Parts: sequence; structure tokens; C-alpha cells
Amino acid sequence: MKVHHLNCGTMRPPMVAGGIVAHCLLIETEQGLVLVDTGFGTHEVSDPKATIDPLSRTLLKPVLDINETAISQVEKRGYQADDVRHILLTHLDMDHAGGLRDFPKATVHVLDSELAAATNPRGVKEKARYPKAQREGVTFRTHQAEGETWFGFEAVKDVEGLPGDILMVPLLGHTRGHTGIAVRSGDRWLLHAGDAYFYRGEVETPPSNIMALKLTVKQTETLRAQRLSNVERLRELKASGEAEVFCAHDPVELARLA
Ligand SMILES: [Zn+2]
Repeated sequence: MKVHHLNCGTMRPPMVAGGIVAHCLLIETEQGLVLVDTGFGTHEVSDPKATIDPLSRTLLKPVLDINETAISQVEKRGYQADDVRHILLTHLDMDHAGGLRDFPKATVHVLDSELAAATNPRGVKEKARYPKAQREGVTFRTHQAEGETWFGFEAVKDVEGLPGDILMVPLLGHTRGHTGIAVRSGDRWLLHAGDAYFYRGEVETPPSNIMALKLTVKQTETLRAQRLSNVERLRELKASGEAEVFCAHDPVELARLA
């Protein structure tokens, strides 16, 4: 398996120096191409108002460059949209699920509680974060958060139809059905922790954060206690050196791995 680290969506929130990225993975497997998250896709680039709510457009300031879309980066490597057979999503926020419609042949894997949150949102926050248009015509396969343990994380799922080197590692908190995705590349594990944290310092020892991202994390979290305990476990995993841990939005982590 070959793993590529992609940025599928630069954003320039005014308070965050250097901006943030949408760190996605493109994995070449014997079962075809697999994507982990899709950032923003061609629909967001051509018509941002249809999928990105006004508050997010103001706060996140997405750059929306066609060259950053997952489809464009797949094609640049000599592949086509239909070569992407599976997409695993950490969650369904609009800066993670934007490119789904660019891959009509793909099965999209999410936790069942996440798809339930998107289709039956509770309250204003959930209503704004899951634009319906992004899921139109998309084939979902949902998974329950129950299974084996993996480096102290519980309920880890082997995803049927995919190599055993790709796992869903539920990390509830940011959203109701948020999950990490673990990928074994050669002799080491990578853990894409999605939005379980936003700033690399949160999982370093001792932890640190920057004010603007601390506020963003708080504003966007759904289950606070679970999010905090997951960050604690991610910090332990990182300190143990057993896996390369990274989140979706930190540009320094992406630069280190790309
Ligand atoms: Zn995000």
C-alpha cells in the first residue's frame, strides 16, 4: 500500500497565522484507490454558497482552489475518478465531505451515528455543519462503533472489503459519530485523527495550544468529555511512538508527512 498525504482545502481563518489545511489521504491498494476524507470538491469550488454556510465562509475563509480538490490530485497521478472505490470519512462536516460527489463509483464509509447526526440533526449547530447537497447521490455504508481494541482505543473496526491495514478508530466528541482512521504503511501505523484536535501541540507532552484554535475546538465540539479523554489517549499514543498521529487541519503536521 502506498499512502499519499494531500491537502484538499486550504483555509485562511483570520485569527490563525499561516492558515489551516484539509489533510486527506490517498491510498493505493490492491482493491483500488481509497481516500480518507475529501476536503472541498469541485462543487464547493464552483458554487461555494450552495454548500458552505455563510458563517463558515467568514470564519474559515476557504481558498477553494480547483487544483487542491481530491479529484484533481487523483487525476494528476494518472488515475480517474472511478478508480476510487472506497472513501473513509472521519466525519461529515462540510470541509471533510466536500469531494464525495466527484467520485460516483465510491462507497463512502462512516459511523452510523455520524450519518444519523447529518440526516437528523439536533439543534442549530448540527443543522449548519452538514449540508445536504454534499451527500446527494452518494452511496454510504455505515459502521457501528464496536469491535476490537487497538493501542488502548476501543471499538476499532476492520472495514469489510478493505485491506486489514485500514481501520476505523472511533474518536467521538467533535461530532456524534467522529472517527479516526488508522492505516498501516510498511512497518508503521498512521492515525488520521480528523478533528479530534486541531493543533499539534494538543497531543504533545506537555500539551500546548493557540487561542484561536482553542476557541474553534470548543465552538465545534459536540461531546466534550469524550473529546477530552480521546485527546488524552492520542497524546499517550503519540508519546509511545507506536503510531504517527496527525489531525486534519494542522499544516505543520502535513508538511512533515507529505
Ligand atoms: Zn474540520
